[in-house]
Amino acid sequence: MKPVAFAYVRARTLEEAIACLAGTDGEAKLLAGGQSLTPMLNMRLVRPATLVDINRLPGLDRVERDADGILRIGALVRHTDLLRSPLARAHGPLLVEAARHIGHRAIRNRGTVGGSLAHADPAAELPAAAVALDARVSIEGAAGAREVDAADFFQGLFTTALRADEILTGVHVPPADGARWGFAEVARRAGDFALAGVAVVTRAPAGTCTHARVVAFGVGPTPARLRSAEALVVGARIDEAVAHAAGEAAAAECAPTDDVHASASYRRHLVAVLTARAVLQAAAGGA
Ligand code: FAD
Repeated sequence: MKPVAFAYVRARTLEEAIACLAGTDGEAKLLAGGQSLTPMLNMRLVRPATLVDINRLPGLDRVERDADGILRIGALVRHTDLLRSPLARAHGPLLVEAARHIGHRAIRNRGTVGGSLAHADPAAELPAAAVALDARVSIEGAAGAREVDAADFFQGLFTTALRADEILTGVHVPPADGARWGFAEVARRAGDFALAGVAVVTRAPAGTCTHARVVAFGVGPTPARLRSAEALVVGARIDEAVAHAAGEAAAAECAPTDDVHASASYRRHLVAVLTARAVLQAAAGGA
Protein backbone atom coordinates (compact mmCIF):
# COMPACT_ATOMS: atom_id res chain seq x y z
CA MET A 1 0.00 0.00 0.00
CA LYS A 2 1.03 3.62 -0.44
CA PRO A 3 0.36 6.57 1.86
CA VAL A 4 -2.57 8.86 1.26
CA ALA A 5 -1.54 12.14 -0.37
CA PHE A 6 -0.01 14.63 2.02
CA ALA A 7 1.63 18.04 1.88
CA TYR A 8 5.34 18.13 2.74
CA VAL A 9 7.03 20.93 4.67
CA ARG A 10 10.75 20.98 5.42
CA ALA A 11 11.00 23.10 8.56
CA ARG A 12 14.20 25.10 8.92
CA THR A 13 13.68 26.34 12.48
CA LEU A 14 11.95 25.02 15.57
CA GLU A 15 9.60 28.01 15.46
CA GLU A 16 8.64 27.21 11.88
CA ALA A 17 7.95 23.56 12.77
CA ILE A 18 5.83 24.54 15.77
CA ALA A 19 3.90 27.07 13.66
CA CYS A 20 3.19 24.33 11.09
CA LEU A 21 1.87 22.03 13.81
CA ALA A 22 -0.19 24.79 15.40
CA GLY A 23 -1.60 25.84 12.03
CA THR A 24 -2.84 22.44 10.94
CA ASP A 25 -5.23 21.70 13.78
CA GLY A 26 -3.77 18.29 14.68
CA GLU A 27 -3.65 17.13 11.05
CA ALA A 28 0.16 17.28 10.75
CA LYS A 29 2.81 14.70 11.69
CA LEU A 30 6.47 15.32 12.37
CA LEU A 31 8.95 13.31 10.31
CA ALA A 32 12.24 12.50 12.06
CA GLY A 33 14.05 9.27 11.08
CA GLY A 34 10.89 7.88 9.50
CA GLN A 35 11.61 4.36 10.79
CA SER A 36 8.25 4.07 12.51
CA LEU A 37 6.28 6.73 10.68
CA THR A 38 6.96 5.51 7.14
CA PRO A 39 5.57 2.00 7.74
CA MET A 40 2.55 3.53 9.47
CA LEU A 41 2.00 5.85 6.50
CA ASN A 42 2.34 3.00 4.02
CA MET A 43 -0.14 0.88 5.96
CA ARG A 44 -2.42 3.92 6.25
CA LEU A 45 -2.47 3.59 10.01
CA VAL A 46 -1.88 7.34 10.01
CA ARG A 47 -3.23 9.74 7.38
CA PRO A 48 -1.73 13.14 8.10
CA ALA A 49 -2.64 16.05 5.84
CA THR A 50 0.90 17.43 6.23
CA LEU A 51 4.31 15.97 7.04
CA VAL A 52 6.63 18.39 8.80
CA ASP A 53 10.21 17.23 8.22
CA ILE A 54 12.34 18.23 11.22
CA ASN A 55 15.60 16.65 10.07
CA ARG A 56 17.19 20.03 9.26
CA LEU A 57 16.32 21.75 12.54
CA PRO A 58 19.57 23.16 13.91
CA GLY A 59 21.01 22.21 17.29
CA LEU A 60 18.93 19.11 18.02
CA ASP A 61 21.51 16.57 16.86
CA ARG A 62 23.99 17.02 19.70
CA VAL A 63 24.99 15.08 22.79
CA GLU A 64 26.28 17.53 25.41
CA ARG A 65 27.01 17.65 29.13
CA ASP A 66 26.32 20.86 31.01
CA ALA A 67 28.12 22.40 34.00
CA ASP A 68 25.77 20.56 36.41
CA GLY A 69 26.74 17.22 34.90
CA ILE A 70 23.40 16.75 33.13
CA LEU A 71 23.69 14.78 29.89
CA ARG A 72 21.61 16.54 27.21
CA ILE A 73 20.70 14.45 24.21
CA GLY A 74 18.99 16.25 21.33
CA ALA A 75 15.88 14.79 19.75
CA LEU A 76 17.57 14.36 16.36
CA VAL A 77 20.50 12.36 17.67
CA ARG A 78 20.41 9.10 15.69
CA HIS A 79 20.67 5.84 17.59
CA THR A 80 24.02 5.22 15.88
CA ASP A 81 25.31 8.62 17.02
CA LEU A 82 24.33 7.78 20.57
CA LEU A 83 26.26 4.52 20.33
CA ARG A 84 29.33 6.39 19.10
CA SER A 85 29.15 9.36 21.48
CA PRO A 86 31.99 9.30 24.05
CA LEU A 87 29.88 11.53 26.34
CA ALA A 88 26.88 9.19 26.18
CA ARG A 89 29.09 6.15 26.74
CA ALA A 90 30.72 7.76 29.77
CA HIS A 91 27.67 9.40 31.35
CA GLY A 92 24.64 7.55 29.95
CA PRO A 93 25.81 3.99 29.33
CA LEU A 94 22.37 2.51 30.02
CA LEU A 95 20.93 4.55 27.14
CA VAL A 96 23.75 3.38 24.91
CA GLU A 97 23.13 -0.25 25.85
CA ALA A 98 19.41 0.24 25.20
CA ALA A 99 20.10 1.81 21.78
CA ARG A 100 22.37 -1.11 20.88
CA HIS A 101 19.29 -3.38 21.04
CA ILE A 102 17.19 -1.27 18.62
CA GLY A 103 16.43 -2.97 15.31
CA HIS A 104 19.20 -3.31 12.77
CA ARG A 105 22.06 -1.02 11.78
CA ALA A 106 20.09 0.60 8.94
CA ILE A 107 17.29 1.45 11.37
CA ARG A 108 19.73 2.77 13.97
CA ASN A 109 21.40 4.93 11.30
CA ARG A 110 18.14 6.79 10.61
CA GLY A 111 16.01 6.43 13.75
CA THR A 112 16.29 9.21 16.31
CA VAL A 113 16.19 9.34 20.09
CA GLY A 114 13.34 11.87 19.95
CA GLY A 115 11.36 9.74 17.50
CA SER A 116 11.73 6.68 19.67
CA LEU A 117 10.53 8.50 22.80
CA ALA A 118 7.70 10.34 21.01
CA HIS A 119 6.50 7.20 19.25
CA ALA A 120 6.28 5.43 22.65
CA ASP A 121 6.18 1.88 21.35
CA PRO A 122 5.52 -0.29 24.43
CA ALA A 123 8.37 -2.63 23.44
CA ALA A 124 10.90 0.14 22.75
CA GLU A 125 14.13 0.19 24.72
CA LEU A 126 14.91 3.90 25.08
CA PRO A 127 11.67 4.85 26.90
CA ALA A 128 12.34 2.23 29.59
CA ALA A 129 15.96 3.35 29.96
CA ALA A 130 14.83 6.99 30.27
CA VAL A 131 12.38 6.10 33.04
CA ALA A 132 14.98 3.99 34.87
CA LEU A 133 17.43 6.91 34.75
CA ASP A 134 14.88 9.44 36.10
CA ALA A 135 15.51 11.39 32.90
CA ARG A 136 13.46 14.41 31.88
CA VAL A 137 12.00 15.07 28.46
CA SER A 138 12.22 18.59 27.05
CA ILE A 139 9.35 19.84 24.94
CA GLU A 140 8.64 23.02 23.00
CA GLY A 141 5.33 24.16 21.59
CA ALA A 142 3.18 27.14 20.78
CA ALA A 143 2.72 27.83 24.51
CA GLY A 144 6.47 27.72 25.24
CA ALA A 145 8.99 25.23 26.61
CA ARG A 146 8.48 22.70 29.40
CA GLU A 147 10.12 19.62 30.88
CA VAL A 148 8.37 16.44 31.94
CA ASP A 149 9.72 13.52 33.97
CA ALA A 150 10.11 10.53 31.69
CA ALA A 151 7.97 8.58 34.17
CA ASP A 152 5.06 10.97 33.46
CA PHE A 153 5.76 11.36 29.74
CA PHE A 154 4.58 7.88 28.72
CA GLN A 155 0.85 7.88 29.29
CA GLY A 156 -0.50 4.89 27.37
CA LEU A 157 -0.09 2.76 24.27
CA PHE A 158 1.74 5.00 21.75
CA THR A 159 0.51 7.94 23.83
CA THR A 160 2.63 10.59 25.50
CA ALA A 161 2.31 13.93 27.26
CA LEU A 162 3.05 15.72 23.96
CA ARG A 163 0.29 18.04 22.76
CA ALA A 164 -0.57 18.31 19.07
CA ASP A 165 1.45 21.51 18.62
CA GLU A 166 4.51 20.34 20.58
CA ILE A 167 7.89 18.94 19.59
CA LEU A 168 10.10 16.80 21.78
CA THR A 169 13.44 18.59 21.69
CA GLY A 170 15.61 16.34 23.84
CA VAL A 171 16.10 14.13 26.84
CA HIS A 172 18.13 15.12 29.90
CA VAL A 173 19.82 12.55 32.11
CA PRO A 174 20.83 13.54 35.65
CA PRO A 175 24.41 12.89 36.80
CA ALA A 176 25.06 9.21 37.49
CA ASP A 177 26.19 9.90 41.06
CA GLY A 178 27.56 6.40 41.52
CA ALA A 179 24.63 4.72 39.79
CA ARG A 180 25.08 1.30 38.23
CA TRP A 181 22.89 -0.27 35.63
CA GLY A 182 21.68 -3.53 34.18
CA PHE A 183 19.79 -4.22 30.98
CA ALA A 184 18.38 -7.45 29.61
CA GLU A 185 15.84 -8.32 26.96
CA VAL A 186 14.61 -11.30 24.96
CA ALA A 187 13.61 -11.01 21.31
CA ARG A 188 12.85 -13.84 18.92
CA ARG A 189 15.62 -12.76 16.54
CA ALA A 190 18.38 -10.18 16.85
CA GLY A 191 16.88 -6.86 15.72
CA ASP A 192 13.28 -7.74 16.55
CA PHE A 193 11.32 -5.77 19.09
CA ALA A 194 11.68 -7.33 22.54
CA LEU A 195 9.12 -9.82 23.80
CA ALA A 196 10.07 -8.43 27.20
CA GLY A 197 12.93 -6.47 28.68
CA VAL A 198 14.08 -4.88 31.91
CA ALA A 199 16.25 -1.83 32.66
CA VAL A 200 17.68 -1.44 36.15
CA VAL A 201 19.49 1.41 37.90
CA THR A 202 20.85 1.00 41.43
CA ARG A 203 23.03 2.95 43.86
CA ALA A 204 24.85 1.19 46.65
CA PRO A 205 27.53 3.57 47.92
CA ALA A 206 28.51 1.40 50.91
CA GLY A 207 27.44 -1.99 49.63
CA THR A 208 23.81 -1.71 50.72
CA CYS A 209 21.46 -0.59 47.98
CA THR A 210 19.97 2.87 48.64
CA HIS A 211 18.24 3.50 45.31
CA ALA A 212 16.66 1.23 42.74
CA ARG A 213 14.66 1.57 39.57
CA VAL A 214 13.38 -1.61 37.95
CA VAL A 215 11.55 -0.81 34.71
CA ALA A 216 10.01 -3.42 32.42
CA PHE A 217 9.08 -2.94 28.77
CA GLY A 218 7.12 -5.04 26.30
CA VAL A 219 4.77 -6.18 29.07
CA GLY A 220 2.21 -3.38 29.16
CA PRO A 221 1.18 -0.21 27.37
CA THR A 222 4.05 1.87 28.81
CA PRO A 223 7.41 1.26 30.49
CA ALA A 224 6.43 0.04 33.95
CA ARG A 225 8.30 0.72 37.19
CA LEU A 226 8.03 -2.46 39.22
CA ARG A 227 7.99 -1.01 42.70
CA SER A 228 7.71 -4.27 44.60
CA ALA A 229 10.98 -5.40 43.03
CA GLU A 230 12.57 -2.03 43.80
CA ALA A 231 11.44 -2.31 47.44
CA LEU A 232 13.12 -5.71 47.78
CA VAL A 233 16.39 -4.41 46.41
CA VAL A 234 16.59 -1.16 48.41
CA GLY A 235 18.08 -1.85 51.84
CA ALA A 236 19.65 -5.13 50.74
CA ARG A 237 23.15 -6.18 49.81
CA ILE A 238 22.43 -7.63 46.41
CA ASP A 239 23.19 -11.29 45.92
CA GLU A 240 21.63 -14.16 43.94
CA ALA A 241 18.82 -14.64 46.47
CA VAL A 242 17.86 -10.94 46.51
CA ALA A 243 17.97 -10.76 42.70
CA HIS A 244 15.85 -13.89 42.40
CA ALA A 245 13.29 -12.52 44.90
CA ALA A 246 13.20 -9.22 42.99
CA GLY A 247 12.56 -11.16 39.78
CA GLU A 248 9.66 -13.05 41.34
CA ALA A 249 8.19 -9.82 42.69
CA ALA A 250 8.58 -8.11 39.32
CA ALA A 251 6.82 -10.98 37.55
CA ALA A 252 3.96 -10.87 40.03
CA GLU A 253 3.56 -7.11 39.63
CA CYS A 254 3.77 -6.72 35.85
CA ALA A 255 0.61 -7.14 33.80
CA PRO A 256 1.43 -8.55 30.35
CA THR A 257 -1.22 -9.73 27.92
CA ASP A 258 -1.28 -12.55 25.36
CA ASP A 259 -0.60 -11.67 21.74
CA VAL A 260 0.55 -13.43 18.59
CA HIS A 261 4.18 -13.21 19.70
CA ALA A 262 3.99 -14.65 23.22
CA SER A 263 1.60 -15.61 25.98
CA ALA A 264 1.22 -13.46 29.08
CA SER A 265 2.59 -16.24 31.28
CA TYR A 266 5.73 -16.59 29.13
CA ARG A 267 6.28 -12.83 29.30
CA ARG A 268 5.84 -12.95 33.09
CA HIS A 269 8.47 -15.70 33.25
CA LEU A 270 10.80 -13.56 31.12
CA VAL A 271 10.34 -10.59 33.46
CA ALA A 272 11.35 -12.75 36.45
CA VAL A 273 14.50 -14.03 34.73
CA LEU A 274 15.48 -10.71 33.11
CA THR A 275 14.95 -8.71 36.32
CA ALA A 276 17.20 -11.05 38.29
CA ARG A 277 19.80 -10.88 35.54
CA ALA A 278 19.71 -7.07 35.27
CA VAL A 279 19.81 -6.58 39.05
CA LEU A 280 22.88 -8.83 39.29
CA GLN A 281 24.50 -7.03 36.36
CA ALA A 282 24.01 -3.70 38.13
CA ALA A 283 25.43 -5.15 41.36
CA ALA A 284 28.43 -6.51 39.48
CA GLY A 285 29.31 -3.00 38.39
CA GLY A 286 27.47 -2.00 35.24
CA ALA A 287 28.44 1.64 35.54
P1 FAD B 1 9.71 8.68 13.01
O1 FAD B 1 9.40 7.37 12.42
O2 FAD B 1 10.11 9.78 12.10
O3 FAD B 1 8.48 9.19 13.90
C1 FAD B 1 7.82 8.32 14.79
C2 FAD B 1 6.68 9.10 15.48
O4 FAD B 1 7.22 10.04 16.40
C3 FAD B 1 5.82 9.92 14.52
O5 FAD B 1 4.51 9.95 15.03
C4 FAD B 1 6.45 11.30 14.57
O6 FAD B 1 5.52 12.31 14.23
C5 FAD B 1 6.88 11.38 16.03
N1 FAD B 1 8.06 12.19 16.26
C6 FAD B 1 9.30 11.96 15.75
N2 FAD B 1 10.16 12.85 16.25
C7 FAD B 1 9.47 13.66 17.08
C8 FAD B 1 9.81 14.75 17.91
N3 FAD B 1 11.08 15.21 18.00
N4 FAD B 1 8.83 15.36 18.65
C9 FAD B 1 7.55 14.89 18.58
N5 FAD B 1 7.16 13.85 17.82
C10 FAD B 1 8.12 13.23 17.08
N6 FAD B 1 12.53 0.62 17.90
C11 FAD B 1 12.89 0.16 19.10
O7 FAD B 1 12.82 0.89 20.08
N7 FAD B 1 13.35 -1.13 19.28
C12 FAD B 1 13.45 -2.00 18.23
O8 FAD B 1 13.88 -3.14 18.43
C13 FAD B 1 13.05 -1.54 16.95
N8 FAD B 1 13.09 -2.36 15.89
C14 FAD B 1 12.66 -1.90 14.68
C15 FAD B 1 12.68 -2.78 13.62
C16 FAD B 1 12.23 -2.36 12.38
C17 FAD B 1 12.24 -3.34 11.22
C18 FAD B 1 11.80 -1.00 12.20
C19 FAD B 1 11.33 -0.52 10.86
C20 FAD B 1 11.81 -0.11 13.26
C21 FAD B 1 12.22 -0.55 14.51
N9 FAD B 1 12.22 0.29 15.61
C22 FAD B 1 12.60 -0.18 16.83
C23 FAD B 1 11.76 1.69 15.50
C24 FAD B 1 12.95 2.66 15.42
O9 FAD B 1 13.66 2.71 16.61
C25 FAD B 1 12.51 4.09 15.16
O10 FAD B 1 13.69 4.77 14.88
C26 FAD B 1 11.86 4.85 16.28
O11 FAD B 1 10.77 4.15 16.85
C27 FAD B 1 11.25 6.15 15.77
O12 FAD B 1 12.25 7.06 15.52
P2 FAD B 1 12.26 7.87 14.15
O13 FAD B 1 13.25 8.96 14.33
O14 FAD B 1 12.45 6.96 13.02
O15 FAD B 1 10.79 8.53 14.16
